[in-house]
Amino acid sequence: MMQFRDLQRQYEVLKPSLDVALQNVMSRAAFVMGPEVAALESRLANRVNVAHCVTCASGTDALRIALMIWEIGEGDAVFVPDFTFFATAEAVLSVGATPILVDVEQETFNINADDLREKVKNVQSQGRLNPRAVIAVDLFGLPADYYRIREVTSDYGLFLLEDGAQGFGGAIDGKPSCSFGDISITSFFPAKPLGCYGDGGALFTDNEVWADLARSIIQHGKGTNKYEHLRVGLNSRLDTIQAAVLGVKLDAFDEELHTSNLVAATYSKQLSSYIAIPVLPHGYASSWAQYTVKLNNQLQRDNLKEHLQSAGIPSMVYYPCPLHQQPALASLEMDECCCPVATMLSQTVLSLPIHPYLRPDEIEQIISAIHGFVKC
Ligand SMILES: *Cc1c(COP(=O)(O)O)cnc(C)c1O
Repeated sequence: MMQFRDLQRQYEVLKPSLDVALQNVMSRAAFVMGPEVAALESRLANRVNVAHCVTCASGTDALRIALMIWEIGEGDAVFVPDFTFFATAEAVLSVGATPILVDVEQETFNINADDLREKVKNVQSQGRLNPRAVIAVDLFGLPADYYRIREVTSDYGLFLLEDGAQGFGGAIDGKPSCSFGDISITSFFPAKPLGCYGDGGALFTDNEVWADLARSIIQHGKGTNKYEHLRVGLNSRLDTIQAAVLGVKLDAFDEELHTSNLVAATYSKQLSSYIAIPVLPHGYASSWAQYTVKLNNQLQRDNLKEHLQSAGIPSMVYYPCPLHQQPALASLEMDECCCPVATMLSQTVLSLPIHPYLRPDEIEQIISAIHGFVKC
């Protein structure tokens, strides 16, 4: 059976190195903050081309830690796209701040800079909440429009937090994803472009003071010694075992990304005259966390999903519900028309299998199933 993202096949390929790396951790028994963690952080910072990388226990924690560093809390507004994984808004609520949902662009699925500016203006003129930060998401691996988002954050004195949970490996004009925010984060959840064997995440920043704060927060707000606590923090460290896994996966990452790009190019070439394929703006590179097509309406989308299913091809709807319709956000009292594009996308998108270990015969099978669907 074809897998949506085949982590077993990846393990088979990387097994010799992974098994050695894991054995090393177990025989040395430095399970928390072992040497693999610092080694990974310095490699990640290098790759993303920022001064500091601090790893932590998940992407969600990384978002939350960034907001804690900026002392964002009650009475503060944080602007987030309406079309994203729930964690983007959850982190805002978890520190007591209010997420303000912003619509996305139909072509790129990412936060719409014009709507962002409108919504910041509105919050400012209402005067009830204090606008503090924007969380832009690199949805499905494509970096958000950071040139235009920066104009808004600069004009209004807001912090920019890049949610690169899906973005690691992307770039704009050669500048790597996870380097666009004042703080940027990524996730190492197994199915993300760079995934570990459980949960994990990281923060990236050029600001040394913030990096030091992050290091304190992930270890119970520790000071210079382990039993001096300067603030209330979290217990949010990346396990040594996960750092060891990530070290091996990072070795393979560039080649994997190259292969994912070839898969995406094949899809796009073969599907573009049949279906709305993902858009890569000029100068942008995606990490291809997802390859997401658009159908004309919900019925057609659901029918294609079923058609693929019956051909043994898994596909996923990311995301079936925009944030403004989530029960957990009902207290925000967002009206239905706050984000029409996000609403429309939740009804029409479908993500196809994409990963570096997808075989040519599987790609062929997927393409011909879609051709068959469109023709009938
Ligand atoms: C996965 C994801 C997160 C959360 O990452 P975890 O490591 O699972 O906590 C946050 N934002 C986005 C956009 C994600 O896709």
